[in-house]
Amino acid sequence: MEQLEPVQRAMVVAPHPDDAEFGCAGTVAKLTKAGKKVFYVIATNGNKGGRDTDMTGSYLREERKLEQEAAAAAVGVSEVVFLDFGDGELEDDHDFRRALVHQIRRLQPDIVFTTDPFRTSFYIHRDHRMTGLVTIDAVFPYARDRLHYPEDIEAGLSGHNVEEVYFWGTETPDIFIDIEDVMDTKIESLRAHKSQLSDWGQGDNPTTFEDMVRKMSRRTSSQHKLSFEYAESFRRFGIRRAWEDT
Ligand SMILES: [Zn+2]
Repeated sequence: MEQLEPVQRAMVVAPHPDDAEFGCAGTVAKLTKAGKKVFYVIATNGNKGGRDTDMTGSYLREERKLEQEAAAAAVGVSEVVFLDFGDGELEDDHDFRRALVHQIRRLQPDIVFTTDPFRTSFYIHRDHRMTGLVTIDAVFPYARDRLHYPEDIEAGLSGHNVEEVYFWGTETPDIFIDIEDVMDTKIESLRAHKSQLSDWGQGDNPTTFEDMVRKMSRRTSSQHKLSFEYAESFRRFGIRRAWEDT
């Protein structure tokens, strides 16, 4: 966790309700335990998530907000912002970028966590690709430069420099966080997403979900020969160089 020692404020940008929990809830729990502030920004309302045919879109939308709030509370998140874009409808466009820039200027994070938009060897959901891409652009240079989306500045916000972006779901991780002591908290956070758990072998086999999460974290650790049992991994993307050079 030394890498994250200087961080005081972190923002997590997740494509759907439950992505933050899989990607970084252990790291978030560690940050909040250490007294840091963490904010969640959830891009879509998840109204098409899950394979349960009894669910309607509007039920899912409301239910998944409540689940996401409970999941965030379990790891000590200060605030959850729902951008409320439709599931599967994210675009690399002004609406999405403007919304992210506004939250960055309002919440003033030192670092931003999001999903890696660049993967070559396995499938990446379109909403995840859009979220990663638009987050990078929103972070730099749009959030910094006052002439982009000047309505924020006119409303009293300042341009803001984010120092680093941490990508989860990456093929080339270079940061590994020991989440052994917060693994139970990560699982509790994931369990809050009740409408999605049916996809993960609940019912007759209620341990499957938890086992899968533990297995994934253990695999990260063994693949990279780490000294701890459970890990979350990230690709660190520095922004400071960019804003110092321009
Ligand atoms: Zn997702």
